[in-house]
Amino acid sequence: MNINNLEIYQFLIKILNNKPKKINSTKMLIDLIETQIDKGEENFEIPVRVSRKLLYSNATGEVIESVQEKTVQNYKAKNLQQELDKTIDEQQVSRDFFSNLGIRPVICENATEGNQAKEFWMELQRIDNSFNQEVKSALVNDDANFKVAQPHIPANRLDIVYEKTKFDEIKISRRAKFFFNKDGELILRKPKGIAFMLYLVVGYISNWIILFSSILLFVMYVYSKSVWLIYLSFTYIVVLTLFSFSAHKNKYKRLHSLVQRRIIKAPEFLLHIDQFNADLELNRPTDFNIAKITEYYSSCPICQSRILVDYGDETYKYYMVGRCRNAPDAHVYTFDRVTLKGFFLGHEAYLK
Ligand SMILES: [Zn+2]
Repeated sequence: MNINNLEIYQFLIKILNNKPKKINSTKMLIDLIETQIDKGEENFEIPVRVSRKLLYSNATGEVIESVQEKTVQNYKAKNLQQELDKTIDEQQVSRDFFSNLGIRPVICENATEGNQAKEFWMELQRIDNSFNQEVKSALVNDDANFKVAQPHIPANRLDIVYEKTKFDEIKISRRAKFFFNKDGELILRKPKGIAFMLYLVVGYISNWIILFSSILLFVMYVYSKSVWLIYLSFTYIVVLTLFSFSAHKNKYKRLHSLVQRRIIKAPEFLLHIDQFNADLELNRPTDFNIAKITEYYSSCPICQSRILVDYGDETYKYYMVGRCRNAPDAHVYTFDRVTLKGFFLGHEAYLK
């Protein structure tokens, strides 16, 4: 295929700009490639180096002089690479584009010694295309109706990185809006935090009071020997028991476990009816515990579906795991809310 470096850079800018959510890494990548196009002039073969601070300052709008070295240290070449790889692998078009070219864009950084500033640049490296060719020829020989999804990523690339949805994109319920502040946080020792606990305790107690008094009522009806009343109150109790049990399990028991687990699936009553998924985590940045509504997600390297955090099954009983929405039981990844990294939990030969 005859295509020059400029066209590759322009293609990369296009797919990065198409992302609905642009995190800082995305913006830094766009800036890096745009600088390459602007400064590369006639010769796009020579990579243009850009300082990390400048990229960060352009991405965040922060004045470059006030950017702290400590802040930008979180952005390493490998982080930008992960974001770039994810963007490319997310879509069939971009996967095919690079696999047909046999080229992969690689983000490089200089080894910083002393006070030398960190710089990034992009190299277009040739990749061994034989893996894809083999799969393609195997597919041609097969029955035409038998379609195999092409494993486009070798097995060692099954690592994922989680991201957090911005809080203003999570819709919460009115009740949650009352207790949680505008950042989705609830400081447990502050008045609203105490009010929230009281609300839970009162709810929990009345849950059982209502259930037991209904059973009492039922017993009274049994003594009254009115068959009609017995049937009616029995049905009522069955329904009420189901509700109470569900509230016990999904609301009270789950919230109670937040203290030990530090992260749980947010109970329904905190979420708006349109919000299908969210997590609730407990942080301790100060002396107080702070509960925060949040949502972790990632993209499945196997099938490109969204990965959401969920409870582990029997095998991973005490862990939260990342489950892909397309194959929640097969494409399972570890989840670590501190490092935000995830590893495939299936066998490493899964894609072979
Ligand atoms: Zn998947």
